[in-house]
Amino acid sequence: MKRIALITSGGDAPGMNAAIRAVVRTAIGRGMEVLGYQHGYSGILLDEFQPMDSKSVGGIINRGGTILQTARCKEFREKEGRERAVAQLRKNGVEGLVVIGGDGSLTGALVLHEEFGFPVYGVPGSIDNDLNGTDYSIGFDTAVGIAVDAIDRIRDTAYSHDRVFVIEVMGRRNGFIAVEAGLAGGAEAILIPEVPYSLPGICDKLRGAGARGKRSSIIIVAEGAGHAAEISPKVAEMTGFDTRYVVLGHIQRGGSPTAFDRVLGLRLGAFAVERLIAGYTAEMAGLVGGRLVGTPLSQILNAPRRVDPEKLLLAEVMAQ
Ligand code: ADP
Repeated sequence: MKRIALITSGGDAPGMNAAIRAVVRTAIGRGMEVLGYQHGYSGILLDEFQPMDSKSVGGIINRGGTILQTARCKEFREKEGRERAVAQLRKNGVEGLVVIGGDGSLTGALVLHEEFGFPVYGVPGSIDNDLNGTDYSIGFDTAVGIAVDAIDRIRDTAYSHDRVFVIEVMGRRNGFIAVEAGLAGGAEAILIPEVPYSLPGICDKLRGAGARGKRSSIIIVAEGAGHAAEISPKVAEMTGFDTRYVVLGHIQRGGSPTAFDRVLGLRLGAFAVERLIAGYTAEMAGLVGGRLVGTPLSQILNAPRRVDPEKLLLAEVMAQ
């Protein structure tokens, strides 16, 4: 393999730049060329690329987002679009494609491989951490850290004013960020889409705690489980407590990646290139139990990832 292409696709995640750095420098070290395409699959269709040398990935490890930028590409969802993408890659002498992205982006890579036999390799980049085949996706640790920092700050004011705060965190259809941030931030309740919840039941508990003198609380809600703006007035009505809400939104995905996400990005990016060279394709690089592994994309993408039940139980016990 002499020339590979690299894209970041879907939602951006802090630590993607570390993965870009590792893909480029590992490939160059193995005597290969890397074409970096801008804006994910859209850039492939538009032939928007630049050859990447070692220097082009200097000074980026501490930067959030992705220097290759990212996009969502409707055309790539159609077979015709994917056919054009493969033609563009082949025209440029590209023999393999590394995709750094979330489940949508990696599904696109798998389909591309299945339809045209094009060698692809996936690197999990998603603050949501909803991919099977890895304990951690790039960006999750940073997003959780930002959410916990915000919870700590809000808790100070919640305590000072005897207030309840409903804090909405990201996570699309799952509760990974909510559970991790809720546990670390000492939340009194964590609402996630995977587990049915009873708001009256939670409010009963808050009232009970209030009767014992605890008049400030934090409720974490994953965006897929409801909107803080709607939940907050209901909590106020049911508890009688002064209740406010905060939607953390996009601040959770920006900023400098944690050391964990940087090293994760480097390890997964380097591993992806080594696996491609070794002839593996249609896999995703992952960190499982501290070890780097490649798992077929077909295995990873056909089932939703579950939140660790032990953590859910722990959250319940801690909220008592
Ligand atoms: P993420 O990778 O963060 O999950 P998306 O779900 O938006 O983000 O997917 C990013 C891009 O991947 C889409 O805009 C599309 O180009 C491609 N993609 C997603 N799902 C598919 C699919 N089922 N088939 C082909 N391409 C897909």
